[in-house]
Amino acid sequence: MDCRGVSALETILVLTHVDDSGNALTKTSLESVTAGVELAHRLSAPLTIGILAADVNAAACAVGATGARVIAVSGDAFAQARYATDAAGCEALCRAAQASIVLLPGSSRFTRVAAGVAHRLGGVIDTHITGLAGDGTIGATRWFYRQRVEAVISRDTRPWFLLLDPGTHAAFAGEPAPVQVEQVAVALTASRTTVEGYRSPMRDAQTIRPDARLLFVAGAGWTKKQPDGQVHVAEAGELILAFLRLSGASLGSSKSLADQKAEGKAGEEQPVLPFLTHMNQIGQTGSTPRHPKGLSTCCHGEEPHAVGWRFIAERRAISLDPNCGWTRGKADVVYVADAFQVMARVNALVEARNSRG
Ligand SMILES: Cc1cc2nc3c(=O)[nH]c(=O)nc-3n(C[C@H](O)[C@H](O)[C@H](O)COP(=O)(O)OP(=O)(O)OC[C@H]3O[C@@H](n4cnc5c(N)ncnc54)[C@H](O)[C@@H]3O)c2cc1C
Repeated sequence: MDCRGVSALETILVLTHVDDSGNALTKTSLESVTAGVELAHRLSAPLTIGILAADVNAAACAVGATGARVIAVSGDAFAQARYATDAAGCEALCRAAQASIVLLPGSSRFTRVAAGVAHRLGGVIDTHITGLAGDGTIGATRWFYRQRVEAVISRDTRPWFLLLDPGTHAAFAGEPAPVQVEQVAVALTASRTTVEGYRSPMRDAQTIRPDARLLFVAGAGWTKKQPDGQVHVAEAGELILAFLRLSGASLGSSKSLADQKAEGKAGEEQPVLPFLTHMNQIGQTGSTPRHPKGLSTCCHGEEPHAVGWRFIAERRAISLDPNCGWTRGKADVVYVADAFQVMARVNALVEARNSRG
């Protein structure tokens, strides 16, 4: 390392893991591979790809076109996420690669173990990395203060672990190619945790879909009195769920809507739209998802909400209010219209298009 923090000899390791099928690398893993390939190319540094899987062959072929050295830990212990085995596997891969830079996808599986592994290696870690810039150096970018301030981080300490935010790089998509996989031995201690299986909500109940092309945001207007003097919450719920089913969009919410509670049958409060939770909330005190497009409906587009749209590339809104925040420069296109009517028509059009195949 010279006095300007320029590393002459970086060695890059990308850690990856497979999805629930057990043999395909996750999309976020493939995104990290792209980041690793680009960084290795820019720094003229050697690249190693490490794979955690029960059976690594198919996953290894998927990254064969990178020309990178491929190392793996495999066996039944790595079929599921479990702290003890995942941390031991990642540690073994890092020691085998002798890497100075370790890139990992910010998946729930690796986010859980990455800091522990960095500690075992005597390294440092930064999370939520959105880009790797710099000419001959490494400047890792991440956002602070609810995506308002972007920082570029550089460090001298090695190994330096970087957890990459999903959606910040294109997934590696080279032709599958045979590759020599070096198996790395792992000393596993007796595990106290047995994974019995997964319990997840029905597919229809999964309204948060990070990979969706469209973010559909519902605002509090859906539950307000409409021009006929009545509220139409049931109809609102049907229109929103139909659109999610037909389009595959991810569902976001304004804080006002997510906060609304009605008294349920047992006298307990429950959300007015039962499929919404605060997990759907977008904004300053909510999430900042990444989608190519966003459609806001019945939402005023105030700053604390719109700040969560920072990474939505193309923004449209449907609002009755011609002076709402969206019309004041926060959206590319605003339809000053009744969202009940617009979404009913949109659903009919999408349904007709889907049935034509
Ligand atoms: C510290 C702080 C943090 C906050 N964090 C967040 C946050 O993370 N996320 C967030 O969302 N908010 C946040 N807020 C709240 C935010 O300021 C707004 O109060 C909130 O976003 C308003 O929600 P809304 O636009 O859905 O509701 P409203 O302000 O009630 O707007 C409803 C809109 O729906 C329109 N409408 C009604 N009927 C129809 C119809 N039929 N067709 C079309 N349009 C219709 C109305 O014209 C109106 O513009 C925060 C506030 C503070 C103070």
